Amino acid sequence: SAEEIQAGKHAYQLDRDHVFHSWQAQGPFAPMTILKTQDSYVWDGEGRQLIDISSQLVNTNIGHQHPKVIAAIHEQADKIATIAPQHVNDARSEAARLIAERTPGDLNRIFFTNGGADAVEHAIRMARLHTGKHKVLSAYRSYHGGTHLAVNVTGDPRRYASDHATDGVVHFFPAYPYRSYFGSTTEAEETERALKHLEDTIILEGASTIGALILESIPGTAGIYLPPAGYLAGVWELTRKYGIVYIADEVMAGFGRSGEWFAVNHWDVTPDLLTFAKGVNSGYVPLGGVAISEAIYETFRERQYPGGLTYSGHPLACAAAVATITAMEDENMIANAKRLGEEIIGPRLERFYADHPSVGEVRGTGVFWAIELVKNRETREPLAAYGGSSAEMNEVVAAAKAAGLLPFANFNRLHVVPAMNIPDEVLIEALDRLEQALFVADKFVTA
Ligand code: PLP
Repeated sequence: SAEEIQAGKHAYQLDRDHVFHSWQAQGPFAPMTILKTQDSYVWDGEGRQLIDISSQLVNTNIGHQHPKVIAAIHEQADKIATIAPQHVNDARSEAARLIAERTPGDLNRIFFTNGGADAVEHAIRMARLHTGKHKVLSAYRSYHGGTHLAVNVTGDPRRYASDHATDGVVHFFPAYPYRSYFGSTTEAEETERALKHLEDTIILEGASTIGALILESIPGTAGIYLPPAGYLAGVWELTRKYGIVYIADEVMAGFGRSGEWFAVNHWDVTPDLLTFAKGVNSGYVPLGGVAISEAIYETFRERQYPGGLTYSGHPLACAAAVATITAMEDENMIANAKRLGEEIIGPRLERFYADHPSVGEVRGTGVFWAIELVKNRETREPLAAYGGSSAEMNEVVAAAKAAGLLPFANFNRLHVVPAMNIPDEVLIEALDRLEQALFVADKFVTA
């Protein structure tokens, strides 16, 4: 309505006057106003309806304003809006049970945090205390959060501003078949060479100094590049061989996004610690956490765990998690995410590859897909250089928005990461709209 649009314009002015935004040069930033959200739609500041294939920051896994989750938050607010972490609270207890029942292996104990970055911080702290070893291995082309240690284990340019004190973080090259760092031409070769490189890194750094290895089971923001067959199992074996705690970061890949409850399930790997956030409650109230194995739990059975947060296991966030996980279960959303990937997104992206020379590769699983845009298929020259955007990518993203989409873009990639319960016809319409952006990308192909 005209009033909503007017209110949006007022909010925009206040935002520009007073809000300091994440990851931005504040001056030129021109954020999109969102007036309203529902299911897989958002309405921008002009009142235009857009299909959200970004799931915001890949966290609204069950779409916007799910009535059961909204009702659960209301109910919890009426009952106990907040309580300190040392007290038992039914919402927290139930959320912990539902999560522990779904995490793999013996990850039966849940430490709640406010989001993903602090989950990563605590997982590393637990691993260091458990092993008595300080160094942390993590992959280039990864994202693990914005706080000091989490951004240091991150393997992307957001780390550069904070890496004057890296606190024992060592990066290794990931297995990434499309842009192999090892000159591999097959997946099998990539697995073998990436594991050899990782083992060499461990030996050269000194296994006796390395407490933890953290790896996104499917790297998210860094490109949704699936690990080739055998890679995660190989990583797991190396951590056994050298006494290193394996931390699976499932902040983005977890809670159904990959078509399984957790992405490690695709490869039958059981980590020692698993970090989650985002999809655990579809992002309706900030929540993250660490799922902890029995062995690491034992370390802290008699010995104090030196860490905590005022809002650990906040009742509103946990009530939202209980309702979200229950809705995922009752509405069969995990299987639906798998089906959407297999029957709609995958085949359509394959057609994009066939029809659009700017598409270098498509890959993904469930509702977790990436399109690599290139200027040249042969050389794989990306449409934006690593670490930044480009005039070409900006045009592609603008075309997606003009076609009625809220897209997710990173460097030279477009990600297709809708909600797990997006209706088939809305998803098909979204992919039709996305193709408009690919016609624009094709203009920049040089070969
Ligand atoms: N780990 C992964 C894999 C992520 O994708 C993210 C956020 O995108 C984080 C950690 C950090 O989570 P948060 O932004 O909730 O701190």
